[in-house]
Amino acid sequence: MTVHSTEVGIVGGGPAGAALAIRLAQRGVEVTLFERLVAPRWRASGVYSSVLTRGHLLDLGVPKERVSALIRPIDRMEVISLRGPRCRLRYQEPFACGIDRVRLESTLLERAAAAGAVVLEGHAVTRVDRSPGGGWKVDASGPDGRATWRARYLAGADGPGSMVARAEGLARSVHRLRHAGLTMHRLDPAAPASDLPMPAAMVLGDGWYCGLAAVPGQRTNIGIVTSERYLRQRLARGARPIDLVGDIVSRLPGDVRRSAEGRDCDALQVALPLAHRVTRRAGSTFLLVGDAAGFVDPLSGEGIHRALVSAEFAADTILHARTGRPGSGDAWGAYERRMSDRFSAKDVLSWLLQAFLSRPRLADYALRRLAARDDHRATFGSVLADLEGARDALRPGFLVGLLRP
Ligand SMILES: Cc1cc2nc3c(=O)[nH]c(=O)nc-3n(C[C@H](O)[C@H](O)[C@H](O)COP(=O)(O)OP(=O)(O)OC[C@H]3O[C@@H](n4cnc5c(N)ncnc54)[C@H](O)[C@@H]3O)c2cc1C
Repeated sequence: MTVHSTEVGIVGGGPAGAALAIRLAQRGVEVTLFERLVAPRWRASGVYSSVLTRGHLLDLGVPKERVSALIRPIDRMEVISLRGPRCRLRYQEPFACGIDRVRLESTLLERAAAAGAVVLEGHAVTRVDRSPGGGWKVDASGPDGRATWRARYLAGADGPGSMVARAEGLARSVHRLRHAGLTMHRLDPAAPASDLPMPAAMVLGDGWYCGLAAVPGQRTNIGIVTSERYLRQRLARGARPIDLVGDIVSRLPGDVRRSAEGRDCDALQVALPLAHRVTRRAGSTFLLVGDAAGFVDPLSGEGIHRALVSAEFAADTILHARTGRPGSGDAWGAYERRMSDRFSAKDVLSWLLQAFLSRPRLADYALRRLAARDDHRATFGSVLADLEGARDALRPGFLVGLLRP
């Protein structure tokens, strides 16, 4: 079998892997990225993202006009319970955004190749092993057959159920609050064709929530999260996933339903389960980025943003490790700590939101309080958009202030 070599092997060419490849290649590091898809295509994944995402894309060298074509600005999120209460979270310029997901991925992979990374689309990594002499052995199967790469460092950017995490024995499944995600696009002929900001909506039902976000191309992304039990019960009664979408959309309040009733343009995709976790995000000579490093739920709309931030941290780590300077051996531990400092509180908040959502009366109560308390609502909106640290929303003072009658 042919054996190649590279300094950094990246498994996975979603937003996390592509962003990491760009950052390393821009700094002159020899990078090989393996992506099993021949070209990006619509799949179960997220589109709604933080106010900060635009800045990350610019920072990765995506030209301003290209960024504008990739995203639809979103200036407010209507959070609505089907049982009555509702509140509005506002976002200032540069606004939150709905992303053209497929074009985002092709743009980032193109940028990675332009920066000098070897981007191998259509190459599925079939196995990763530590090499006896240090570094990694990566087996991949591509259009020309199977081949092996020797890599000094390895990044797992291969999403949920990461092969790299499994090879290191770090992957764990989640047993409580198990959810399924269903997502598709529908045409919204009434959406203004320009880059005018649009509203997004999050509707809370019994056993499910449904997010609606405008994306470029006059499309609305419909993202539905149900408990695994609810989905399985519906399927057992003979419903198809698309019937479930139709049923849920028909129950949305009229003011938000309109944008979700057009013709299907990107087919329904299902992901089950959504959450997964890892016991560690790095170890000697490897790290995990994006969803490979764990994912809770799309409710907080931070998967894409987290993928881009973790890629930035990962690039710093690898650049530091390869200097070989004293202390550089601890770069991997430092990555773990940096990720934990940045994201642990948000994970706790995401689990807390899941717990509220699984108790409709509690969710409605919290929503009523949010609607009535401007300061709390502003903080909550900023925390969800990652503009403020999640610790702010977990302070006992904040929670008591929000939830007191
Ligand atoms: C239904 C649903 C709705 C979501 N909604 C949102 C949302 O609104 N906002 C948000 O921010 N996030 C959302 N997310 C999460 C978001 O999609 C992810 O956080 C984001 O895609 C993470 O990017 P990533 O690059 O880490 O992983 P991925 O996007 O999963 O990319 C991983 C890549 O690795 C490739 N790969 C996997 N295995 C191999 C292999 N063996 N060899 C080669 N390549 C491999 C895959 O083909 C893929 O391209 C949602 C997720 C789901 C499932």
